[in-house]
Amino acid sequence: MQLKDSVIIITGGGQGLGRSMAEFLAARGARLALVDLDQQRLDEAAAACKAAGGDARSYVCNVANEEQVGDMVNQVASDFGAINGLINNAGILRDGLLLKSKDGQIQKLSLSQWQSVIDVNLTGVFLCTRDVGAKMIELGNQGLIINISSISRAGNIGQSNYSAAKAGVAALTVVWARELARFGIRVAGIAPGFIETEMTASMKPEALEKMTAGIPLKRMGKPDEIAHSAAYLFENEFYTGRVLELDGGLRL
Ligand code: NAP
Repeated sequence: MQLKDSVIIITGGGQGLGRSMAEFLAARGARLALVDLDQQRLDEAAAACKAAGGDARSYVCNVANEEQVGDMVNQVASDFGAINGLINNAGILRDGLLLKSKDGQIQKLSLSQWQSVIDVNLTGVFLCTRDVGAKMIELGNQGLIINISSISRAGNIGQSNYSAAKAGVAALTVVWARELARFGIRVAGIAPGFIETEMTASMKPEALEKMTAGIPLKRMGKPDEIAHSAAYLFENEFYTGRVLELDGGLRL
């Protein structure tokens, strides 16, 4: 699949990995539909994509809201006339131990902390893939859906919610690759390790330092290195149903 003129939706496209992938693909001539929560951030990302050489439009949409996702997909199809790809990248962290003992009291991970991450990182991926897939079939378009999983899918301390969602996303990559191949839609995953973005910048410096020391390459990944892999997955038409691990050799 060639990137030039391909219409690709990127959720969480306003910053971090999403924006980096958008700019990388725009530089190769892709037409981007950027989806995020904040209009101003989206507009800045869209302007950066245009400066990089591709077309881009922005869509404010909460990926965890069924109605908003349906409306966003219809709008993208009507604005661009085609959809050739989706990157399910929007994600949040709400870390916490399942149980914590403090001053003789047991503190539990709250249901809302659990649910908020499942809603965005797992249900959001389901809603976007379902509605974008349906629209691609309706329009007779073929292409690729990329799910952004994480190294934490293996099970990371303090990340019950996030690990469960990212493991779910990895499994769904296999399920949907099998189900959607008949429509000419491939589904691939990327499981990044620790990458320099706003998300990792929000981690405690001590935790970040400890984590970096454990990476065989002794550094975090760069957003461009993830974007490079996304471009590869679009271009390699034999790649489907697998999750590419991009973590500098780190194993959790
Ligand atoms: P980021 O900098 O926090 O960017 C994520 C973007 O998604 C933000 O603009 C965020 O908006 C948006 N978003 C959050 N909830 C949303 C929703 N319900 N609907 C639409 N947009 C929403 O994160 P990142 O580091 O680039 O991470 C991108 C993806 O890679 C995530 O799925 C993450 O789990 C995964 N990942 C990242 C790393 C890493 O080291 N950075 C490693 C492994 C996996 P707000 O800021 O307003 O919430």
